[in-house]
Amino acid sequence: MTYLTIPIVAKNPDQARHQIETALLAGAEMLELRVDYIENLTADVVKGLIVEIRTRAAKNVPVIVTCRDKHQGGATDYPAGLRIDTLAAALKAGAEYVDFEYENFLAPENRGKIRSALSQSLKGKLILSTHNFQGKFPQISNLYRHVQTMYVASVPKLVYTANHINDCFEAFDLLHNTGGERIIFCMGQAGLISRIIAKKLGSLVTFASIDEQTATAPGQITIEQFKKLYRYDAITPGTELYGVIGSPVTHSLSPAIHNAGFADIGANKLYLPLLVDGGAPEFSEFMRNVLARPWLGFRGFSITIPHKESAMDYVRGKGGFVEPLARRIGAVNTILITKDGALKAYNTDYAGALDAITTAMEITREQLNGIPVAVLGAGGVARAAVAGLTDVGARVTIYNRTISRAEKLAAEFGCDFAGLDKLAQIDAKLLINCTSIGMHPNVNETPIPKEFLKKDMTVFDTIYNPAETLLLKQAKEAGCQTISGLDMFLNQALVQFKLFTGTDANPDLVRKTVLDCLSRRQLI
Ligand code: NAP
Repeated sequence: MTYLTIPIVAKNPDQARHQIETALLAGAEMLELRVDYIENLTADVVKGLIVEIRTRAAKNVPVIVTCRDKHQGGATDYPAGLRIDTLAAALKAGAEYVDFEYENFLAPENRGKIRSALSQSLKGKLILSTHNFQGKFPQISNLYRHVQTMYVASVPKLVYTANHINDCFEAFDLLHNTGGERIIFCMGQAGLISRIIAKKLGSLVTFASIDEQTATAPGQITIEQFKKLYRYDAITPGTELYGVIGSPVTHSLSPAIHNAGFADIGANKLYLPLLVDGGAPEFSEFMRNVLARPWLGFRGFSITIPHKESAMDYVRGKGGFVEPLARRIGAVNTILITKDGALKAYNTDYAGALDAITTAMEITREQLNGIPVAVLGAGGVARAAVAGLTDVGARVTIYNRTISRAEKLAAEFGCDFAGLDKLAQIDAKLLINCTSIGMHPNVNETPIPKEFLKKDMTVFDTIYNPAETLLLKQAKEAGCQTISGLDMFLNQALVQFKLFTGTDANPDLVRKTVLDCLSRRQLI
């Protein structure tokens, strides 16, 4: 069992009682009393807190008592003698675990006192912990063995900072190759996934904070995020993993969308934010790490900036399948890993754009054949839209600030092109904004003067934040039919979900999830 554990980081017993109450109400499965945070600490204070926990409704919730050395991240510089006395008192009062630093345990005097306290406790166990706040341990497997040898009945706790997501795989290997009670994960933003999949891999504990203010280590997430966003209660050793590979990924809506969808169809699947910093070499290393460890259960990825092109090259290089139109676009945003480790890559952006257009215009893809379309922009989204539209025979003209980019894209897909100074001459049935003009926070900007909009045009803005841009407002005022970027985003997510699961997601649930996320974000 992996316990979702909340550290209690109070300055005094009253504050501690309040935090304990809140943590238990939030669903903590274990509490860690970080008594190094308590001012004027005494052994009696610690004993009192444990007795109180034992008299509450959640009296069976196990407790770890930690009085961390300041040199290893502790809050107060308490002497070793007092720190050990508090652990001894905790064991006497019935704490299930006490945590002491492995490096300090090497001192015979400390070791003797702790062994003696443990020998007088019926159930208390020792967590021997070691942290590296700078980066990976030089030889983590050897260190693990040394910790175990030092006190055979101990629970080794090895925690280090991941400076890149690729640093996490040593922690995963160690969990995979060991058994029994042990605590292994990575700190820092790049280590986030190790905290979430700790349960899948069987770590005794993963730590969550009550809120962002009370986090005790870099990269710790809140219990609400664990439970609501990352489906903590549903994770099992057999859970299949998915995720969005990109940099940055913190604000991606994809974890919320896909996890809500997985929960809705009862799939044993979990979707993670996968922060892969760097370029093609780091992307390739991440993929190598994943493919070398089928037991991790990764089965699919969404790919976002800056890895869409590297992802296509990687899959082609491995002899995998790349959807023909994705090949022409030169970028993929979805990768599947089959059960036998083969790769398949797709681009759901163009499909999302085409679905948004055909649904709004109430036509089929085939009926887009011959329709004059003006595409504003020549970046990644414009490329996907142009590929999809030319594939079904639409007559596309690309307008862009940097005319050479428009020219290049037009040459690839057999379109016309022009500069933004030619917008007055637009004569299109469908106008698509693929520039970032008008995106939050520049919501008062628009890529085209409103007098150039004609009422028989359909106007599609690929921007989805805000859902209704100034362009769309002015298009409505001009009597045009409008399509929001939200529709494209939702449609590409629906196509991707189907690739991940073979099942259609509930579109209303996906829309509600996205709108909830966007409205929360705009309050921040
Ligand atoms: P990109 O590759 O960086 O391309 C940006 C485009 O916008 C380029 O054509 C650029 O012109 C133009 N541009 C930017 N600022 C401009 C300005 N001040 N004046 C004139 N042109 C300007 O970005 P992208 O990945 O294609 O994304 C474009 C937009 O699509 C984003 O803003 C995003 O909101 C939206 N998007 C929507 C979805 C969806 O699913 N609905 C998905 C992804 C992105 P130059 O070539 O001259 O630089």
